[in-house]
Amino acid sequence: MMVEDRTSDYVFSYNGGRVEPGETEHFRFTVTETYLGDPLRIPVSIINGENDGPIVFLTAASHGDELNGIEVVRSVSRDWDHAVLNGTLVCLPVLNVPGFLAQERYLPIQDRDLNRSFPGREDSTSAHRIAKKIWDNFIEPCDFGLDFHTSTRGRTNMFHVRADMECSDTERLARAFASNLIMNSEGSDGTLRREATKNEIPTITIEMGQAHRFERDQIDTALAGVRSVFAEYDIYPQACVQWPGWTEVIDGWAEKTWLRADAGGIVDMHYRAGELVDEGEEICTITNPFKTEQTTIDAPFTGLVVGALKNPVVYPGNPICHFVKPSDDTISILRKD
Ligand SMILES: [Zn+2]
Repeated sequence: MMVEDRTSDYVFSYNGGRVEPGETEHFRFTVTETYLGDPLRIPVSIINGENDGPIVFLTAASHGDELNGIEVVRSVSRDWDHAVLNGTLVCLPVLNVPGFLAQERYLPIQDRDLNRSFPGREDSTSAHRIAKKIWDNFIEPCDFGLDFHTSTRGRTNMFHVRADMECSDTERLARAFASNLIMNSEGSDGTLRREATKNEIPTITIEMGQAHRFERDQIDTALAGVRSVFAEYDIYPQACVQWPGWTEVIDGWAEKTWLRADAGGIVDMHYRAGELVDEGEEICTITNPFKTEQTTIDAPFTGLVVGALKNPVVYPGNPICHFVKPSDDTISILRKD
């Protein structure tokens, strides 16, 4: 599928309004009702350019406590100069408003995962109904999309992109984002990324840092990625496509693994997310409360720490480290850094 540009007289319309070419609208859009029957609304910014170009969505906080992406989406919609904009930007900085208010990952309504509920259904759960409203009004009209996430609370992620690299349009988008690491997978059922990509709206997920934080370095890296994407698709004709220095695409589960605790205790991580660990090196130690006993977790191969524990307490079986095996070329580049 090719990205087909909208024309210069394109009007962005949603249920209850329209945004003319050359206009920007910031508004709140009702997706459901509270226990009091009051409207529950999500913030939306539509920047409708005067010139031909693609329609792009940028979404964040479908998990309510994942904050870094909110600042990325707000910066693009409000801080960036849209004087020369080829296309339309659909910016949804907080998809899961109830989760955001509670500072929780899930919709507090029966703990539903909004990011397993797309494309949504009208006659189903509250999560599906919210997803359907978002999908019909703001996702469906788009040509491609960027969905921003962080690690689950208590852990952190090395900056990376998740994308279905078997789909050539999605691959183009993922590479244009210019991240070092790309995890190739279709994604789980009901995720915005998977369902949009399946519906010919190529979409990538950007995983960046921790929940409950604004991490400036992660936000700046993501903004550089967005600018590079806008250059690739000529949305910002004056911008340049970035080259990240190295790119590693990790396929399937064979090359990546979750290292899990075999003992309960308190964890001392010896490496941070983004660091290379040589085979056999100690990634972390787990100690008992007296510090009289300890177990270690050693690197099963020379690999990269993609996800790492931040809250240092574990039960046996808890994931400690998302560990992936890069190519020999990438390893040698990383050793030179
Ligand atoms: Zn998430």
